Amino acid sequence: MSGVIRGSCHCKAVAWQARLPPKIVINCHCSLCRQLSGADYSAWVVIPNEQFRINKGSDSVSHYSASEHFSKVFCKVCGSTVSCVNNAKFPDHTYVARGNILGDVALPVDLQVYTNDRAQGIHLDADIPVYNP
Ligand SMILES: [Zn+2]
Ligand SMILES: [Zn+2]
Repeated sequence: MSGVIRGSCHCKAVAWQARLPPKIVINCHCSLCRQLSGADYSAWVVIPNEQFRINKGSDSVSHYSASEHFSKVFCKVCGSTVSCVNNAKFPDHTYVARGNILGDVALPVDLQVYTNDRAQGIHLDADIPVYNP
């Protein structure tokens, strides 16, 4: 897995790029991710900080500290998630919101995490390992 992925928020105020490979690609079913995204789970591409860069609109991002260790970066114009930081699990890494990647990029999911907290009726992918810290 090599190359560069690019992404942007919905209104295009914020654009970023990240150099592959990622540390890990995860689907997180924790209650924090579910609440912050409003979706059944969050899809994250975890990238070492030195491989991630906001190219445009760094003055349009806002930060929200959801917990002691978890903060969310989002576009203050359209509200799209740009990234998250998890200081407990992967300090020095950026959790990039997979849904904002532009184009078709093959990034297989490595792990499904916090699956014990998953939303009712959500079916897990039987081929992808599960991890519950
Ligand atoms: Zn935006
Ligand atoms: Zn989570």
